[in-house]
Formats: sequence, structure tokens, C-alpha cells
Amino acid sequence: MRAAVVPGFGQPLVIEDRPMPEPGPGQVVVRMEASGLCHTDIHAAYGDWPVTPTVPFIPGHEGVGIVTALGDGVTSPQIGQRVAVPWLGYACGTCRYCLTGWETLCLSQRNTGYSVDGGYAEYFLAEAAFAAPVPDGIDPREAAPLTCAGVTTYKAIKVGNVRPGDLVAVSGVGGLGHLAVQYAKIFGGTVAAVDITDEKLALARELGADIVIDARADDPATVLQSHGGADVAVGLAVDDKSFATAYAGLRRGGRLVLVALPASGALSIPVFDTVLNGTSVIGSIVGTRADLAEVFGLHAAGRTRVSYETRPLAEVNEGIAEVLHGKARARLVLVP
Ligand code: NAD
Ligand code: ZN
Ligand code: ZN
Repeated sequence: MRAAVVPGFGQPLVIEDRPMPEPGPGQVVVRMEASGLCHTDIHAAYGDWPVTPTVPFIPGHEGVGIVTALGDGVTSPQIGQRVAVPWLGYACGTCRYCLTGWETLCLSQRNTGYSVDGGYAEYFLAEAAFAAPVPDGIDPREAAPLTCAGVTTYKAIKVGNVRPGDLVAVSGVGGLGHLAVQYAKIFGGTVAAVDITDEKLALARELGADIVIDARADDPATVLQSHGGADVAVGLAVDDKSFATAYAGLRRGGRLVLVALPASGALSIPVFDTVLNGTSVIGSIVGTRADLAEVFGLHAAGRTRVSYETRPLAEVNEGIAEVLHGKARARLVLVP
């Protein structure tokens, strides 16, 4: 079977023939139908973060496909079922985080396409318990972006405690942000979307953003403050400056939810203002299996729209270049 492999950090991916994966106990083999290209995969391939994957590796944590083989002991999912294999590829199930609804913080977790091989391949392995069933009627090419971009932003809106009437700033309307706009609306927010390309700002409008801010022309903080300040700002742009402006655009009691992970990202905040204004700065990492089930449920009910274009798996390097240059539609989805 063919797979796209990162041979070394910062090098182009190579398409290789790999042996068919064999399922171990508790695992399943999935035949890929669609695999989203998350910006995280680019950080992984560049070795951008303090903890790096071990090269060579196969990225991808938005892999969706059909179960073709079961390891010992697997009763669900079954052969022929469509599943999605998210970033949270495994968590222990017994630690204090797993037991309190925070499996995404489990110290024993394994991450698909990072610490274990992922979905940029014709076939890939998954832990049966973490392969999320995709409801009938959801196109696999739409399920793929929901598997990370969807669940991550849905969780970020929850973590930001968005309430009806809140002004929610969505900073960056890419793969994650175009879904964040929609979840913020579903939770009752008024949405101010910030980006630096005309296409993304137009998409934000189409998806229901009430205010759009072109960060090339205007200072997002000034515009947000002219509307009274944001109750919640969600940082989804791969740019340190965007966090500082989102922070400065908050009203008193505001919550800044950090999601994007630029290489060596850092945010410096004034203690005095943060204390006096009662500001919260919160990190948010993906979402749980329960969150992903809710994301799929909303999509199956027609409440969300996924903006994507497909590319053949073999054109993954061109796809990465498109994302880095802001040329891609909200999400690129690789197909075999
Ligand atoms: P993307 O490239 O699709 O989207 C980024 C968007 O930000 C683009 O639309 C770009 O035009 C816009 N942008 C760039 N500079 C900007 C600026 N100064 N102001 C406003 N907008 C700006 O990326 P993505 O796949 O949506 O991922 C975004 C980030 O989120 C990445 O760093 C990724 O690793 C991270 N991520 C985090 C989690 C998590 O759990 N915390 C999960 C998935 C992805
Ligand atoms: Zn992702
Ligand atoms: Zn655990």
C-alpha cells in the first residue's frame, strides 16, 4: 500500500510502498477514503514543536475510511463500518484525566500521525476504542475535517464558555476557523471573524460571521473594542501577533482561548491589566470522543458546512505549499 512519509524534518514528503498494516489486539485496519490536511501535520513535518515525532513517520489525524480487518478482541467497530481516526489515538482510560472527562490531557495518550503513524496512507491502523463511528449520510470528505478542525473548535467554544449574545472573535478562518465561526453561532454568539485573505473573509461572511476584520488593513483589537470588546476570542491563526491583538480586543471578564500552535509561539501579557480586567487565558487541545460524536451529530443534522477541496494523496507536498501560502480553500482533503 502507498503512504506519504516524512523522511526528515523540513523535507518534502515521499510516497512510499509500505507493507499492509496488521492489526494488533484491540486494533482495526482502516481503508482510507479521505484524510484532511491539518496545519498541525505541517508543524509535525517541520519538527516545529518542543516534542517532535520520530522520523520517518506517516502524518495525518483526520483519516476517515472503512474498517477492513479486526484485531483480537475487537467487537466494535465492525468490518465495513466507516470510522474517523482523530489526533487522540489512545488514552489510558484509568487516570484522573480520563476519569473526569479530560481524556485529551491523559499523560499516556498516543497521537495519530505524530507518535504513531496516521492517515496519509491507503490503509492505516487505529485503536478500535478511539475510531469514531461516522454517522450514515456524512460524506467521508466532510467527516475528515470535522475529525480535527471540527472537534477542536467545538471544544474551544465550549471551553471559552460562549453564551448567547457573547461577542466571539474568531482569529484565523482556515480549516479550524471556518468551523469555529459556525459553532460560535450555534452557541448563540455574535461572531467577528479575522483573517488576512479576501477569500477567507468572504467565506466567513458566507458562514454567518456578523463582523469581518481584515487584519492587513485594520487593527483587530481596535475594531473589537469599537464593538464593546470580545467576550471570547479564539486564537486559530499561526501567527504570534494575532494572540496579542486578540487579547487586546477582549472586554472586561473576557476569555482568550489559545488553539493555534506557531513554532516557538509565545504570548506576553500585562499582569496588571489581566488582574484588573478579570481576563482568562486558556489553552485548549482537540476534544474528546464525546465531543466528536456531538460534532458529527450536528453535521448530520445539517447544522454545519464543511468547505473543502480534494487533492490526490500523491500531491501532498503541493497541498502543503497551498496551505502555507494561504491559497487553499478552508481545508484540503487528501484522497487515495
Ligand atoms: P490554516 O492554515 O488552515 O488556517 C490558519 C488561518 O489563519 C488562515 O486562514 C490564515 O489566512 C489565517 N491567518 C494567518 N495569519 C493571520 C493573522 N495575523 N490574523 C488573522 N488570521 C491569520 O490552519 P488550521 O489547520 O486551521 O490550524 C491552525 C492552527 O491550529 C495550527 O497551528 C494548528 O497546528 C493548530 N491546531 C491546534 C489544535 C489544538 O488542539 N490546539 C488542533 C488542530 C490544529
Ligand atoms: Zn489537526
Ligand atoms: Zn489517561
